[in-house]
Amino acid sequence: MDLMNYIGGKFERATGGEWLEVKEPATGDVFARVPLSGTPDVDSAVRAARNAQAAWGQLAHSKRAEWLDLIADGLESRYDDIASLESRDTGKPISLARAVDAQRSVANFRFFAEAIREHEGEVFEMTDATNFVSYRPVGVGALITPWNLPLYLLSWKVAPAIGMGNTVVCKPSEMTPMTANLLMEVIDDVGLPDGVVNLVHGDGSGAGSSLVSHDDIDLVSFTGGTSTGSKVAEVAAPQFKKLSLELGGKNSSIVLDDCDMDSTIKGVVRSGFMNQGQVCLCGSRVLVQEGVYDEFLRRFIEEVESMRIGDPSDEKTDLGALISADHLRKVERYIELAKEEGGTILTGGYPHLPEKFSNGNWIAPTVISGLGVDSRCSTEEIFGPVVSIHRFSDDSEAIEIANNTRYGLAGSVWTSDVGRGRMIADSIHTGMVWINTWLHRDLRVPFGGVGDSGVGREGGKWSLGFFSEATNVCVKHD
Ligand code: NAD
Repeated sequence: MDLMNYIGGKFERATGGEWLEVKEPATGDVFARVPLSGTPDVDSAVRAARNAQAAWGQLAHSKRAEWLDLIADGLESRYDDIASLESRDTGKPISLARAVDAQRSVANFRFFAEAIREHEGEVFEMTDATNFVSYRPVGVGALITPWNLPLYLLSWKVAPAIGMGNTVVCKPSEMTPMTANLLMEVIDDVGLPDGVVNLVHGDGSGAGSSLVSHDDIDLVSFTGGTSTGSKVAEVAAPQFKKLSLELGGKNSSIVLDDCDMDSTIKGVVRSGFMNQGQVCLCGSRVLVQEGVYDEFLRRFIEEVESMRIGDPSDEKTDLGALISADHLRKVERYIELAKEEGGTILTGGYPHLPEKFSNGNWIAPTVISGLGVDSRCSTEEIFGPVVSIHRFSDDSEAIEIANNTRYGLAGSVWTSDVGRGRMIADSIHTGMVWINTWLHRDLRVPFGGVGDSGVGREGGKWSLGFFSEATNVCVKHD
């Protein structure tokens, strides 16, 4: 299948004629080709978005909310397609693609439809004047997304961006373009006005960078790796584009000696290995208090080894394949480095799988002990099914270890004393902390990180704020 760009309401071939193969992570088989779009394609997409912006921006919120609901309906009618395409494209288990990716993609459009309906300006009275704050569209947005949660993250940006009256050009990851294409089909089917949502496929150095640097782009919402985020910021900041950066993470799961062991084991395994550890929020360093360390470790390893690795299309599969051969090599290099840094591999290796998966990107979930808390493997983002375990004695030591990375995205604390959990959560320098749970998301709350994990917040009213310009009109009384 050869994918096409979606520009001004039409599916179009990219101008350059260069293609990139899209491979199925589980088998290594090529199942689609994505065009490597270049500057001319980006130019026409931005032009289409600009031409559509004024009329779209003038629609009432309630009208734009109706469009978001129509898109949600369209996605919902293709729920199973989303799950199977996402599973095939990313290598993740079908059950996860259904419960997380398909579910959230629909929910994002529904949630923002409602949020926009309820969104109002504010009025601030002074003794001699009244201030009217309104939220205007920013203009044309560039929405750039990674491969780990393709439609989940794209819909998280498209819905609030167009809901607030902007028009957009999307640039999904070149490794997982299938559900972005499906979203364009849905948008085309529901008849959204031409040019409101456009999409250019391609890689970062071609389509991505020419989109970010385009003179007529007013805002950039980027989710991806920290080093890419820094390149995006270098280009966008001097042009004073509105910028949101959701970047990498190295998150701690802190297990206290008073935790409920059964639910903690399940929660920490889920947090460490969901989507083969390829979620920015994954708890890839597990800090365990010394009194429960031995029991935790024994039961944690048992639980990790009980996970079923294999065919992503099998409903019973817990873990699928890594996104690419390059990414697998990166993860393998970190495991080698862990050994050099004094770590002991407690479980890991390679799964035994049927012949048809022999060219896929497979590795078993890996648990490492004995690493220093300052080691590279314990502080750098590996973004794979690799977890390091560390022992601590008291709460202040746990906080110190949790804070000794350059990242600051998320974390979790596992305890039966919620007050103690809150105290630790409040001391961790991250944008989000969960207590006795993980990836439990209310779409109204802020999402984002500090330090190398990014700048800005999206989610709920923070998305509505980012995708709009708050403007004040002050009227002096007679
Ligand atoms: P990546 O940075 O390699 O790519 C992300 C996107 O940016 C892709 O669409 C890519 O084509 C594009 N891109 C690459 N170079 C570019 C450039 N110079 N200009 C513009 N666009 C460019 O990231 P990835 O490997 O796709 O995703 C994994 C990373 O994403 C991990 O670090 C993970 O933690 C992070 N992530 C963060 C969040 C979050 O919300 N904080 C969510 C998911 C993933």
